[in-house]
Amino acid sequence: MVEPGVEAAPTAEQADPYATALAQFDAAADRLGLDEGMRQYLRTCRRELIVNLPVRMDDGSTVVFFGCRVQHNLARGPGKGGIRFHPSVTLNEVKALATWMTWKCAVVKIPFGGAKGGVKVDPKKLSLRELENLSRRYAAAIGPVIGPDLDVPAPDVGTDPRIMAWIMDAYSSAQGRWTPAVVTGKPIAVFGTEGRVAATGSGILHVVREAARHHGLSLDGATVAVQGFGNAGQWSARLLARQGCRVVAVSDTSGGIYSGRGLDVEAAIAQKLESNRVTDYAGADRTTNEDLLTLPVDVLVPAAFENQITGANAADVKAKIIAEAANGPTTPEADEILGDAGIFVIPDILASAGGVVVSYFEWAQNRAGLFWREEDVDNRLREVMTSAYHDVQGLAERDKITMREAATVLGVSRVVEAAELRGMRP
Ligand code: NAD
Repeated sequence: MVEPGVEAAPTAEQADPYATALAQFDAAADRLGLDEGMRQYLRTCRRELIVNLPVRMDDGSTVVFFGCRVQHNLARGPGKGGIRFHPSVTLNEVKALATWMTWKCAVVKIPFGGAKGGVKVDPKKLSLRELENLSRRYAAAIGPVIGPDLDVPAPDVGTDPRIMAWIMDAYSSAQGRWTPAVVTGKPIAVFGTEGRVAATGSGILHVVREAARHHGLSLDGATVAVQGFGNAGQWSARLLARQGCRVVAVSDTSGGIYSGRGLDVEAAIAQKLESNRVTDYAGADRTTNEDLLTLPVDVLVPAAFENQITGANAADVKAKIIAEAANGPTTPEADEILGDAGIFVIPDILASAGGVVVSYFEWAQNRAGLFWREEDVDNRLREVMTSAYHDVQGLAERDKITMREAATVLGVSRVVEAAELRGMRP
């Protein structure tokens, strides 16, 4: 979601997210007893395209922006993964995100491989025209490696449905034919799907509901804190509140707000949309992003960036359940500490899969020339998320491992199966 007027997000320090992704993979590979060749194959991104994008700015100057598109693995289908516009984008971050997408698509059993893209830019500092120029330049530059059967981008941090419409238009113009299935997360008016905007939050709701049931926790009155208040955070907060949860704290780059009685989530969202600072919301105490993570809540939803729960603060986390809407919010060191403390972590490659599942529905509708009703999208998403949750929990219980280990083992094993059946091609 592009948000004018707020400073760039504080970037996470320490761990290289790609090192985190590889450490998680290595643990799963050990568990699965993968041979050296398969390990090498899955530790390597299949394609890393770097593009340098000259963009004409409103003042007549030209600025060259760094961008990339990474396809980690295509054994299970075309690449799938969002496009991030953020000043902290690096190739290694995008490689990590692409790797997690491979496992995520496999965990929820949708027919895609893993990919991700990014441009190092603060979109909030661009005019609308500059943003469109940049988006179209990026679409043209990655055009040769994307397509409905090749790699299908979607929104991520700093991008939104409008940018997806520009990318679809640029790609369709270059091809000389209407190609809506090249990108998902489009506005409904140009072959987007019902339910996509809420999808990541809906996915969070489904996995939290199942985890709460498993722990004998009623969602009615359960306390929730949400870090990050963009697409993923707002919809997670909204849908959990509609289930009866008491959302006591939310935050964005301006800081956090807290109310022990529970926030009026709709009012907080309205405030965020109006001034782009959730901290302008009246009638709540202020908190910080750091303190929010350590509140004594039933459910914590990190929905901002990588590396938020680290070795430095994990011991202070008091939530019973963590549902990772963000990709890579927890470092391996923190994972161990949370595991020892008995905190139930629903990992990103399961918890945040709602977005890519509905992206798959959008792609499938585009290819069939159909529109599904919102109710159909919601029902199918619930089915996919609930079943994936139980696949992961079943494996975690059987092998006495964490939910993250189980999800990674499941995702990796499905990719291995496809790669072996195909002979590791393409
Ligand atoms: P977004 O751009 O819509 O929102 C990001 C929000 O996080 C903004 O409100 C920003 O102010 C806030 N933020 C940034 N850094 C922060 C920090 N350190 N502390 C607190 N708040 C901070 O992005 P989004 O699409 O909601 O994505 C958020 C996370 O969810 C990312 O990790 C993304 O990869 C992941 N995710 C998104 C989707 C999706 O469909 N949008 C799907 C799966 C996963």
